[in-house]
Amino acid sequence: MSKVLVIGSGINGLSAAAILAKRGKSVMVLEASDKFGGAVRTEEITLPGYRHDLFATNLSLFAGGGVMALLKEDLIRNGLEFIPSAKPYCSVFPDGKSIGITMNRESNIETLKKIAPEDVESWKLLTDKLIKLSPHLFPILSTELPSLAAAKLLFKSWRAIGTTGLFELIRLLLQSSRSFADEYFVHKETKALAATWGMHLDYGPDISGGALFSFLESIGGQEFGMVLGKGGADSITNALTKIIVENGGEVLVNSKVTEILLKDGKAIGVVTADGKSFKAESIIANVNPALIPNLLPGVVKSDENISKIKNFKPGLGTMMIHLALSDPPTWRAAEAGDFNYVHIAPYIDDMAMTYAMAAAGKLPEQPTLVIGQPTVSDPSRAPNGKHILWIQVRVLPLEITGDASGEIDGKKWDDIGEQYADRVINIIEEYAPGLKNKILARKVLTPSDLERYNVNLIKGDSLGGSHHPSQFFFLRPIPGWTGHKTPIKNLYICGSGTWPGGGVGGGSGLMVANLLSK
Ligand SMILES: Cc1cc2nc3c(=O)[nH]c(=O)nc-3n(C[C@H](O)[C@H](O)[C@H](O)COP(=O)(O)OP(=O)(O)OC[C@H]3O[C@@H](n4cnc5c(N)ncnc54)[C@H](O)[C@@H]3O)c2cc1C
Repeated sequence: MSKVLVIGSGINGLSAAAILAKRGKSVMVLEASDKFGGAVRTEEITLPGYRHDLFATNLSLFAGGGVMALLKEDLIRNGLEFIPSAKPYCSVFPDGKSIGITMNRESNIETLKKIAPEDVESWKLLTDKLIKLSPHLFPILSTELPSLAAAKLLFKSWRAIGTTGLFELIRLLLQSSRSFADEYFVHKETKALAATWGMHLDYGPDISGGALFSFLESIGGQEFGMVLGKGGADSITNALTKIIVENGGEVLVNSKVTEILLKDGKAIGVVTADGKSFKAESIIANVNPALIPNLLPGVVKSDENISKIKNFKPGLGTMMIHLALSDPPTWRAAEAGDFNYVHIAPYIDDMAMTYAMAAAGKLPEQPTLVIGQPTVSDPSRAPNGKHILWIQVRVLPLEITGDASGEIDGKKWDDIGEQYADRVINIIEEYAPGLKNKILARKVLTPSDLERYNVNLIKGDSLGGSHHPSQFFFLRPIPGWTGHKTPIKNLYICGSGTWPGGGVGGGSGLMVANLLSK
């Protein structure tokens, strides 16, 4: 039986390992951390009984993706249970207004009629557009790039939507969130509603490429809703791990790979920090591509094909704040209390300033906030009647050079993390008065903490590498390393640094498993 070693147990490493184990390969996963799952991890990090998704929480990509389709029965048998939400997201604004998007098209139109009447027709148009483009967009997102299969898909799309339709699609892929929002919407609230989704990835409103995510996520929320894991996002990684083990594979934690062994230019095994070595026919690195040269000390200097991967750039940083609450927040915009995500950005110009400040090394005055309210749909995550908040702070400097407000001194996250978290809580308090009095406990995970948990999250980049167009689609991570192959024979790569990019989808794990199953 041919043996496959997987370095790293992120969603993609585990997905690849589970699929290959089911297909009869002998599989071993080596994980550096004390727990498997990478950026999918659930813990009682504030108080006993309060289960927080430390990093990712929205599992919609996985629920609708290829790994779920392939392993559905095994995943469910091994405990995976999704909790769908028909009220996925809501943007709240400083004047107390809000736009909440539900899975009910009519009720969304009623909301827009009240808050942004001139955008109603555009919203309907975009809804139709997503329905029309879905058969062409989604298959591309789950196809190897570049590949013959992708070329065939493009050809098929061209036949279905014509040259103009195809060029419009390409235009959407290259457009910025602001340009997209300005093209369709009049009201600043609707523009912000869409553009905030670009900030989830590393698209400030003026960065080329942001339009696709602003479009897909804002309208996609209405069409597909949002999905959480019952009891925590780790329900996925727990189930995947059980599939690996029940098919004869192994997942070893506290096993950091320090070197990939080569023979005649081919990868033949790995060495771990505790000095153990493991041999295999194929090695899959679920490792940020920029870190691979560290695992190939012998070849880096002499081989430009390897060393150039260091040019693969991280996106801007992220901080997480986890709160245990005595009561749910009381939003000034009352409807916000029912939604899974509440966005405080607030408007496009604020997001543009935030992005520019962070890129210039300044702590933003008004970071974009994604506030997850998991206990709205999954009360099992907190003791009876109690709640948790999942606060993602986007976007933050990779190196701090100062504070845009001039209030915080210090250039190290370890020194200023709590102070910056106070700024975030003060902002939320303005939108949900009384929140501070409801906080029973809080845990701040700074960008530096993110990297400590998971080396792939370089300087707190939550996405395993920037998604700007020069590093995305058929260019991810960089030319010469595409198709989940590396310049080294038998060494493959998956994870958010590879196509189709960040998110709890497992797509690159599936693609690499298919590559090794041929
Ligand atoms: C704060 C945060 C919030 C997010 N929210 C969402 C969300 O709600 N929804 C969503 O879809 N996505 C979200 N994302 C993104 C998503 O979680 C990630 O893109 C995805 O989980 C990354 O998966 P991966 O396969 O690249 O592996 P990773 O999660 O990067 O895991 C890789 C694993 O490999 C291990 N490793 C690396 N090097 C070595 C080595 N040398 N030896 C052994 N092990 C090694 C690491 O320790 C790690 O455990 C979020 C990310 C973060 C950080």
